[in-house]
Amino acid sequence: MKRILITGSLGQIGSELTVLLRSIYGNDNVVSSDLRKVEGSKVIEGGPFELINVEHAHEIAEAVKKYKIDTIIHLAALLSATGEKDPVKAWNVNMGGLFNVLEVARELGCSVFTPSSIAAFGPNSKKVKTPQDDVQRPTTMYGVTKVSGELLCDYYHMRFGVDTRGVRYPGLISYETLPGGGTTDYAVHIFYEALKNKKYDSYIAAGTYMDMMYMPDALNAIVTLMEADPSKLKHRNAFNITAMSFAPEHIAAEIKKHIPEFEMGYDVDPVRQAIAESWPDSLDDSAAREEWGWNPKYDLAAMTTDMLAKLREKLD
Ligand code: NAD
Repeated sequence: MKRILITGSLGQIGSELTVLLRSIYGNDNVVSSDLRKVEGSKVIEGGPFELINVEHAHEIAEAVKKYKIDTIIHLAALLSATGEKDPVKAWNVNMGGLFNVLEVARELGCSVFTPSSIAAFGPNSKKVKTPQDDVQRPTTMYGVTKVSGELLCDYYHMRFGVDTRGVRYPGLISYETLPGGGTTDYAVHIFYEALKNKKYDSYIAAGTYMDMMYMPDALNAIVTLMEADPSKLKHRNAFNITAMSFAPEHIAAEIKKHIPEFEMGYDVDPVRQAIAESWPDSLDDSAAREEWGWNPKYDLAAMTTDMLAKLREKLD
């Protein structure tokens, strides 16, 4: 049985991943942690929780020793839009945090899973069906930390034999916890506004395609890759994965099928628009499909139906 430590576990992914992993591996075998506490959080109430700032390596090491951890799932990071507001902090948290996690993993014999992102690609990458191995010259600090993180994870595997694994996530859509300041957040906010106000102004322009994924598929990717036979993994870190690619008008049209009065306008934010334009329209995820059986279940229609039903329950 794995004994897992999750960093950044109160965020968009961690708040759902912690609950799922506890249902698989047992409450006491999944230790959640974050920089902060949230009153009434299922993550804090459902099992062990530690306050850990990933910039402080000793806090990570103490938790690993205290709970006899063998797997670290490292989620603590600053996302793309937040990172552009404070690039120095983004570098310190994203690179410092990952470096500390990898060092603790090397010293104390842990495996590491950490997500990269479509942001690890840039304007020179192939725009449509971006291959697994392609040019990576991103133009955001977030992207710079993601490429560097991919390389660092490869290095710790090759040089020290640390079992590092990861995926390049697209924009993630979920209803449990609001996203933490990414460029694809519009695809979550649109659902809240559609249900509350029947209208939404997109800060991303019409015609701007980005890859997206519904949270159940994103969580399933972590569990499947963590359990995959290492001898079959040629890439190991930073597998391209995707479930759908759409532009704002497509998700609006899908929501309109459920809420006919819904109207979408545009109030484009130049910073997030520029980031979106520097990213791929869609990724080629064939390496993940071949090497560990990646196979998402939700497309735009299925995700929209489920998201609206779950959010209605939540907002009622
Ligand atoms: P989030 O912003 O929702 O959550 C991040 C969490 O990290 C927060 O709870 C925050 O309190 C915590 N944190 C920040 N600084 C910290 C520090 N110094 N020490 C400890 N905790 C700290 O992020 P998320 O969406 O859950 O993303 C998790 C990972 O997945 C990140 O590496 C992110 O880059 C990656 N990712 C996310 C998406 C997405 O759409 N959500 C897409 C691609 C990649």
